[in-house]
Amino acid sequence: MGFDFDLIVIGAGSGGVRSARIAAGYGKKVAIFEGSDVGGTCVIRGCVPKKLLVYAAGFVKTFKSAQAFGWDIDDASFNWQNLIANKDAEINRLNKIYLSLLSNSGVELIQHHATIVDNHTVVAANKNYSAKRILIATGSTPFFPEIDGIEHAVSSNEALSLNSLPEEMTIMGAGYIAVEFACIFNALGVKVNLVYRGDKILRGFDNDVRNFAEESYIKNGINVILNSNIIEIKPNHEKFDLVLDSDISLKNQEVVLCATGRIANTYNLGLENIQVKLKYNGQVDVDAEQNCGPRSIFAVGDVCNNDNLTPVAIKEGHLLMDRWYGNGNSYIEYDYLPSTVFSQPEIASCGYTEEQAEEHFGALQIFTSKFRAMKYAMTDIQDQTFMKLIVQKETDLVVGCHIVGADAGEMIQGFAVAIKQGITKSKLNQCIGIHPTSAEELVTMN
Ligand code: NDP
Repeated sequence: MGFDFDLIVIGAGSGGVRSARIAAGYGKKVAIFEGSDVGGTCVIRGCVPKKLLVYAAGFVKTFKSAQAFGWDIDDASFNWQNLIANKDAEINRLNKIYLSLLSNSGVELIQHHATIVDNHTVVAANKNYSAKRILIATGSTPFFPEIDGIEHAVSSNEALSLNSLPEEMTIMGAGYIAVEFACIFNALGVKVNLVYRGDKILRGFDNDVRNFAEESYIKNGINVILNSNIIEIKPNHEKFDLVLDSDISLKNQEVVLCATGRIANTYNLGLENIQVKLKYNGQVDVDAEQNCGPRSIFAVGDVCNNDNLTPVAIKEGHLLMDRWYGNGNSYIEYDYLPSTVFSQPEIASCGYTEEQAEEHFGALQIFTSKFRAMKYAMTDIQDQTFMKLIVQKETDLVVGCHIVGADAGEMIQGFAVAIKQGITKSKLNQCIGIHPTSAEELVTMN
C-alpha cells in the first residue's frame, strides 16, 4: 500500500523534532505537523525562557554580595520590558534554529494543526496525508481547576511574558512550576503569595528537601500559605480578590498564576477516530515500544509519560527511531532520572527519596550535610546548602542523592551518571573532591 510518508509526526516540540530528524537521517520520508511555533513547550514557553528569567532573578543575589568582593554597583537597576524583549529575541533565534534543523534534515514541515482520521491518515487544513506510521508528540498543556473566576488566572505560558512586573501576585500550586515562578518573581521584587492545598510544598520530593526548600523560600520573602484552596477569583477593578477556604484573604492581586499541573495535549487530535488506549488522567497509554494500541500509532513525551522532562521525550523518540530504522535495540530506562527545580535555592534530585527508599530497599544509611557555601561567606547572604545521600545498607549502593543550594543542577548531573551505573558509598568515598567547591561535600560525607 502506498503512503505519502513513511512517518508522520504530530507536534514539533523536543520529542517530535528529534524523532523526525532521526527518521529522516535514516533516509525515511517524514512530515511533521505543528499548529503553533516549532520548538514546543520547552523552547517556546517552558524550560528555555524560564531559565532565562531564572538567570535574570539570580543577579539580585550577585549584586547583593558584590560589595563584599570589592564591587561598587550602587546604581544597578532592572527593566522587565528589556528582559522580556531580549528573551523573546533569543526564543526567536532558537525557533529559527529548529526550523533549519528540520529543513536541513529533509523533514517536510506542515505548519497546521493535524487531526488523526484513521490509523494511517491525518487531516490538516482540509487536506489528507497518509503514512505507514504516525507518532503523537503533542506534549502537555496547563491544567486549570474548576474554580469560580478561573478565567482570570494565567498559566506559566503568559507569566513568561507579562507586560509589566506586578507589585503583588498569587501562585496556585506548589510543584515545579509554582515554586520556580514564585522564586523568579520574588527575587525581582514582587510580593509573592504561594497558595498550596497540602501541608508541605513539593509533594513527591524527599521530606528533608521539602522542609529545607520551604524554609528557604520563606526566608527569601515568599508568603507560603498551606492547607488552603482558592475557591473564587473575584475581579476588583484591574485587580483580583481571592476567596480561600481558610480564613486568609488575599486582596488586590495583580496576577493569579495557576500552576496546578499539566495535562496531555490531546484536544482535537482525533483520538476518538482510532482505538487508542488512554490512561485515567487522559494521557495516551503506551507500551515499551511507545505503541498505543493500533499497530501504526505511537507516542512519545509528555502526551504519554509522567516524567514531563524534555530529555525524556527526546530519548524516547530517538531510541524508537533507532529501533525502527537503524540497528538500535536500546530502550529508555526511567530509573534514576535526575531533575532540577530551578528555584532559589535550586533543588536537584536523582533516585529515591528516603521515604521511597525505605519501601524499596529496607535498611538504609542516610548521610546529610548543611553548610554555607563559600561564595556567601563574606556576604550578608545567609543561604545554606543541603545535601543528602541515601544508601542501601545491605549493598552499600547509593540509591538517592538530593541537593538544595546554589548550582545544585550543575552538581547533580555527574553524580547521576555514577548513581545510574550503580556506584556504592565506599567507591564514592574513594573519589577525590575538588577543593574548594560545594560538590566536594558529596564525596566526603560521613
Ligand atoms: P506539578 O505536578 O509539579 O505540580 C502541580 C501542583 O499543583 C501541585 O502542588 C499540586 O498539588 C497542585 N494542584 C494540582 N491540582 C490542583 C487543584 N485542583 N487545586 C489546587 N492545587 C492543585 O505540576 P507543574 O505544573 O508544576 O509541572 C508539570 C510537570 O512539568 C512537572 O511535574 C515536571 O515533570 C515538569 N516540569 C519540570 C521542570 C524542570 O525540570 N525544572 C520545570 C517545570 C515543569 P498536590 O501536590 O497536592 O497534588
